Amino acid sequence: MADALDLFNSGVLTGEREGAVLPDRKLWESKKGGVVIVECPQRIPCNPCHTSCPTGAIRPFADINDTPTVDHSLCTGCTLCVASCPGLACFVIDLTFSEDKALFKLPYEMLPLPEKGQKVQCLNRIGECIAEGTVENVTQPKKDRTYVIHVSAPKEVVDEFRTIRAVK
Ligand code: SF4
Ligand code: SF4
Repeated sequence: MADALDLFNSGVLTGEREGAVLPDRKLWESKKGGVVIVECPQRIPCNPCHTSCPTGAIRPFADINDTPTVDHSLCTGCTLCVASCPGLACFVIDLTFSEDKALFKLPYEMLPLPEKGQKVQCLNRIGECIAEGTVENVTQPKKDRTYVIHVSAPKEVVDEFRTIRAVK
C-alpha cells in the first residue's frame, strides 16, 4: 500500500494525498478547456501557482509552505499556472477533447520542442511508455516561462500519463 515514505524514498508520487488530488469526475467531464491537476504534496516555500491564477481556482495560501488546494469549478484550463510552476507540478487535462481521447496540457522544458502533429511517447510517473500521443499545439502562455505541450492521448491513461518523450 502506498504511504508517505514511497514519495520520499523514490521521488515518485503514488496514491492521493493533500495537495495532489484529482478533480471530481462529473465536474471534470463537463469542463471544456479542461481543469488543472496539481501534484505538489510536499510543504515547500513556493506559491506561483496561486499568484499566476487569474480566476482564484488555486486558493490563497495561509502559509507560504502550504501545499496548494484547488477549487476546480473556477478553473478555465488556461495553463498560466502550468507555465509558472517551477516544480512542473501543474498540468491541465481536458476530457471534452473527443469521445475517446483527452487533451493533456503539460509543462515541457526540453529542447528541441516537439512540433504540432508529431507523435510522442506518453510516459507515466516512473518514465514507462504507456501510450502514443499526438502533439496538437505548443504554447508559451507567459513570456520567457515554461512551454506547454498539448497532447491528445487515450482517456484510459488520465490517471497515469504525466510527461512525454519526443521521438522523431
Ligand atoms: S489552469 Fe488557469 S484557471 Fe486553472 S488553476 Fe491554472 S491558472 Fe488557474
Ligand atoms: S508553484 Fe508549483 S511547486 Fe510551487 S507550490 Fe505551486 S504547485 Fe507547488
